[in-house]
Amino acid sequence: MSLRFSAIQKLSNQPETKVEASARITEIFGSNVFTQKTAREFLSDEAYKSLVGSIKTSQKIDRAMANQIASGIRGWAEAKGVTHFTHWFQPLTGTTAEKHDSFFTIKSDGTPIEQFEGDALVQQEPDASSFPSGGLRATFEARGYTAWDPSSPAFIMEIRNGKTLCIPTIFVSYTGESLDYKAPLLKALEALNKAAVDVCNYFDKNVTKVTATLGWEQEYFVVDEALFNARPDLLMTGRTVYGHSSAKNQQLEDHYFGSIPERLYGYMRDFEIESYKLGIPLRTRHNEVAPAQFECAPIFEEVSIAVDHNSLLMDVMDRVARRHNLRVLLHEKPFAGINGSGKHNNWSMATDTGVNLLAPGKTPKTNLMFLTFFVNTIKAVHDYADVLRASIASAPNDHRLGANEAPPAIISVFIGQYLSKVLQDVKERVSEKMDETDESMLKIDIHKSIPELLMDNTDRNRTSPFAFTGNKFEFRAVGSSANCANPMTVLNTIMAQTLKNFKKDVDALIEKGEKKEIAIMHTIRQYIVDSEKVLFEGDGYSAAWEKEAEKRKLANVKTTPLALDAMVSKKAKDLFEKNNIYTHSELEARHEIELEKYIKKVQIESRIMGELATSHVLPAAIRYQNLLTNNVNGLKEAGLKETAFANQKQILEKISEHINTVSDLVEKMIEARKICNTMSDTRTKAIAYQSQVKDAFFDEIRYHVDKLELLVDDREWYLPKYRELLFLR
Ligand code: ADP
Ligand code: MG
Repeated sequence: MSLRFSAIQKLSNQPETKVEASARITEIFGSNVFTQKTAREFLSDEAYKSLVGSIKTSQKIDRAMANQIASGIRGWAEAKGVTHFTHWFQPLTGTTAEKHDSFFTIKSDGTPIEQFEGDALVQQEPDASSFPSGGLRATFEARGYTAWDPSSPAFIMEIRNGKTLCIPTIFVSYTGESLDYKAPLLKALEALNKAAVDVCNYFDKNVTKVTATLGWEQEYFVVDEALFNARPDLLMTGRTVYGHSSAKNQQLEDHYFGSIPERLYGYMRDFEIESYKLGIPLRTRHNEVAPAQFECAPIFEEVSIAVDHNSLLMDVMDRVARRHNLRVLLHEKPFAGINGSGKHNNWSMATDTGVNLLAPGKTPKTNLMFLTFFVNTIKAVHDYADVLRASIASAPNDHRLGANEAPPAIISVFIGQYLSKVLQDVKERVSEKMDETDESMLKIDIHKSIPELLMDNTDRNRTSPFAFTGNKFEFRAVGSSANCANPMTVLNTIMAQTLKNFKKDVDALIEKGEKKEIAIMHTIRQYIVDSEKVLFEGDGYSAAWEKEAEKRKLANVKTTPLALDAMVSKKAKDLFEKNNIYTHSELEARHEIELEKYIKKVQIESRIMGELATSHVLPAAIRYQNLLTNNVNGLKEAGLKETAFANQKQILEKISEHINTVSDLVEKMIEARKICNTMSDTRTKAIAYQSQVKDAFFDEIRYHVDKLELLVDDREWYLPKYRELLFLR
């Protein structure tokens, strides 16, 4: 029996998977995290103070204290049954990495002991040679090391029977270049903090720290594991390269409003429990639009913690799915013809005085502060739209952006009717001659209209890649499988740069003798004028918008290899260097890595398409072709008239044509790949893979294969069909 049919059979006698009895969330929340409260319990006063100090100031921990802190952490972990530890980090491959060491060791006199020393806590040297470095390590002949980031607490990962202590780290080369997603993110957050505090101090001298906040919404698909295993394309690439859409799709929208299926509910409960133990504050779960598609979202947190938590969650979701004989698909576009998956990044900034800087205030003064940060965000997106676009570019996300169910590749900002009017008012009323007795500035009473403002936002635009949603911006173009760190690094850096410019511009006016509030209003007005072309309230999925955007000279780069150019433009290099995020060589290296990732992904997809076509699709089609041929010949021999087998002949003709075309195209695609592989310049090669391999062949080959799927006897077709993948559970 083929895998397809045995998988379908298995499904009907699927045993129920047991999920831990549900405790109250508060009882398990953070139980696998070395929180400050736990630290209080397991560390000496001295060590505790040192650790808390490091967390507050984001400084490395004091080496002298490291041994004490390490042994405290080990005490806690061992009490929970942990035997191994690892430095946990987020390399540029896009997954998380770990290398397990045990506490167990043998002393020089032969005594076996368990130990965890300060050195092992603070710094490690994973064998880094197999992580992508974009040529950096080769150039600098430097090895990489991981270093504990105390702002992110240690945690225990439970895997089936084993428990591992994980130390969140950054990954850098010995010459200081960052080799991961986390190190630059921390730098960007620090840049934002400085720039935002300076601007906040115009309004409130008490603000000493600004933290960016992130709440992501993770979309995903779930399929049965046995069916998944019968699809080599899912196994290798995370998406189906073939598959005719099923008779029923998402047109009834019954999945979105439906209740969560039983088996999936068990899975969700299970990964939620694991997540709670890890301190991931998951809050919502629901069905998404496409069949077998779901979403979960946490309560927002500081960006760096939220990024770690999203990476951890993706890992947990994957592990727990296997416990339930399920597979989670985090790919942006696992199935053609139905919605893909994104990861909306809800982002704002909060002061240490407890103010959300993107929430409209209650007084004219706090309103002005809101307006400042609001308009600066728009200006930042306007000025650096291309860099922001590059931050979300990837091979899988190309299937989604602009594919009329996801935000377009054009970066624009949606702010709603009400705030559009406020900006218009500011533009019109703030005049050159305005002075401090002029009341017009204070007439912009946003606070009186808060209910209206919220109403406006409940009816918000779902088609915008960057939308204001009441008290935060929502960056929606991020892909479901992406590490949020990269888009967050860029967003916070461009915001930091824009706020720095803003301060310079305001100070210049103040120096000329302008009163502070007036100087601020004038600068805000100028920023509105400068950036209003990025504002768009209409339907982002429409063809009309593409035209309009072109008129406005907004970029619309649809493919990753070209979108990535913006990472290494002069503008980008200046931006990242000035803010201490990346040196030029780090940027070049990252650019190279992203291009290579793109090439590899397209290459793997192309290979699996070829392989599936020749080893699954064509044999099935040929078997059926034989059956029909025998049938036709038999009827002929039996002396029947031509009309008796005319239909069979017609089907035969169609099948033969598709068989020939598929086999031809596959050959040509292989030739095209060979040509690409001779190219030495990475960018040229990536563009060639995109245009000469992907665009030239993928859709066409798929078209014929999908036609064959409809024609060939179902019993001959070994690849699980869309209806089975999407509707059986
Ligand atoms: P939806 O967008 O589906 O209507 P919500 O608006 O309730 O859902 O929130 C979506 C996400 O935005 C959640 O993860 C939430 O925690 C997050 N969020 C809310 N406020 C902020 C904020 N100030 N900063 C960052 N994220 C936030
Ligand atoms: Mg949302």
